Amino acid sequence: MPDIHRIIPILKTLYPDAVCSLEWSGDPWKLLVMGRLSAQCTDERVNLVCPALFDRYPDVYAMAAGDVDEIGAYIRSCGLWRTKAESLKGAAECIVLRHGGKVPADREALLALPGVGRKIANLVLGDAFGIPGIVADTHCIRINGRLGFYPTEMKDPLKVEKILAPIVPAEEQSDYCHRMVLFGREYCMARNPRCGDCPLAGECGTKAKAKSHHVAVPHPQQINTVPTPKKP
Ligand code: SF4
Repeated sequence: MPDIHRIIPILKTLYPDAVCSLEWSGDPWKLLVMGRLSAQCTDERVNLVCPALFDRYPDVYAMAAGDVDEIGAYIRSCGLWRTKAESLKGAAECIVLRHGGKVPADREALLALPGVGRKIANLVLGDAFGIPGIVADTHCIRINGRLGFYPTEMKDPLKVEKILAPIVPAEEQSDYCHRMVLFGREYCMARNPRCGDCPLAGECGTKAKAKSHHVAVPHPQQINTVPTPKKP
């Protein structure tokens, strides 16, 4: 089992600023919108699209009064635009009606908003309100499985969250997940991870397994020196 108390300091040294890669400018509503748009889309794309979207819909009231097709026109390049536009408008309406226009700092209330799952709820709680939570996105799921906290076949975000929550200290959870994203882009990519120069190799179950299953490939000279069996 990898040691989280060795992993966290290494990640902190690698990425001292564990910033969210979404540029949400300190507004919880904008973080919620960007979290929703990032489903099956890159953070870079979301960062590109959102300035124009937020110019047109500067707050939750503007989004609640917006037209789905027009909202969709701003976010089309993020994919699934109609579903996302409908859920953004729906979430804005709920926040206006139920929460006085303020994003609730409460997991259950967030999960009750259209389009908001645990990943977005935990992202908003952690970054906007300082409430701990594991953001089980694709990087987090992949890397922690490879490290050996659970089988690599496990892809269910809720199961991953429940396994990691008692392992990662509460006060570190948000930053840990942000660092996972940065680490997943630099070292532990989905394809061709850089195990050879990975700073976490000493803690990694995948790396250890690869070593123990290593099959020595003979040097060509060795192949040539293998004696030919004598005929009986
Ligand atoms: S050793 Fe390889 S699989 Fe393990 S964390 Fe590093 S890059 Fe990922």
